[in-house]
Amino acid sequence: MTNLLSGEEQKQILNRGFSRRSLGKFASILTAGAALPFYNESAMAQLSMVKDIPADAVKINANENPLGPCPEAADAIHSIVQKGGRYLYDETFNFAGTLAGIEGVKPNYVIPYAGSSDPLHRAVLAYTSPTKSFVVADPGYEAGGRAAEYVGAKVVKVPLTKSFAHDVRAMAEADPNAGVIYVCNPNNPTGTLTSRADIEWILANKPKGSVLLLDEAYLHFSDATPCSDMVAADKELIILRTFSKLFGMAGLRAGAAIGRPDLLAKMQMYSAGALPVTGMVGAKVSLQQKSLVASRKKAMRAIRADTFDFLAKNNIEFIPSDSNCFMLNAKRSAHEFIGAMAKEKVYVGRSWPSMPTYSRITVGTADEMAKFQAAAKKVLA
Ligand code: PLP
Repeated sequence: MTNLLSGEEQKQILNRGFSRRSLGKFASILTAGAALPFYNESAMAQLSMVKDIPADAVKINANENPLGPCPEAADAIHSIVQKGGRYLYDETFNFAGTLAGIEGVKPNYVIPYAGSSDPLHRAVLAYTSPTKSFVVADPGYEAGGRAAEYVGAKVVKVPLTKSFAHDVRAMAEADPNAGVIYVCNPNNPTGTLTSRADIEWILANKPKGSVLLLDEAYLHFSDATPCSDMVAADKELIILRTFSKLFGMAGLRAGAAIGRPDLLAKMQMYSAGALPVTGMVGAKVSLQQKSLVASRKKAMRAIRADTFDFLAKNNIEFIPSDSNCFMLNAKRSAHEFIGAMAKEKVYVGRSWPSMPTYSRITVGTADEMAKFQAAAKKVLA
């Protein structure tokens, strides 16, 4: 298996602190990613949930967008299907160029992927090792930590602050040998924001040799400003974007890594081939819809505000959020709450070990949230 790696690649891997025994693991990652357990939101939602969800159930467990792609993106996807016998690489370049234009970075600062789980895993493989740790907030999105554990890297969890922001000072001090500092803004699962000033601070003060991996999966639901200007200024950060959230394309797959070309190049060693043209076209057309972000954000917020009103009126504790998900305190084992809600055909999200009485709830449609309200009232009565 290790003969799949060139002598130079083997040397690079060993220089990063991996043992000779790890070479086989790396070689198998290169063969279609088969050996790397791939963690994404839906896989984790399934792990923590009862399987075989009934078709008429409310699914607010995986931070998906029930609206799906906007009509213009759906039309473009339908039209390209007939041409799908070809690789159509230009569609991938067009998507990258459109995103680069909006973000104010050069086209070679954007690499498209089929979603952002993929570059998240690649960044962890590229920048962590048995001697370079992965620093993450607690509670935080788990996928990167699981990939780090897989390659034998230490995972350092740093509790969020009292206001549920990333504790950037504690994260910077957590390990002088950090390889990746992962900041998710707004955070998954809490939906809370970390200020731009704090992101600037950690970028300036992170341990030498580490990269800041800034996951902006939920950025468009919040009023936070994107940090792509920091990439344009050639700082040591990689931004992750996905079209699975506000743009409603989780099953269609599109995403991107935005960063300095030399930082992105290290992730490309683990690269795959052509990307699904349906996802690329859908993403490009979504970006071209000028009012889409504002209108979807507004609609989601109205439903979220109504949900928060209901929770407050019924004395159900929750953490106010800037995203399309929030944490609800069931004041009992969250597993029990999740199971009781499933009996009402409302599938809510998982809990995190550091917050065992909280379940993460995704904001669905008005109709779905009405069903959520009725079930929560019954279960938590
Ligand atoms: N990052 C965060 C914080 C997420 O919550 C998710 C999915 O839920 C992803 C990345 C990856 O999403 P996808 O692979 O669908 O783009």
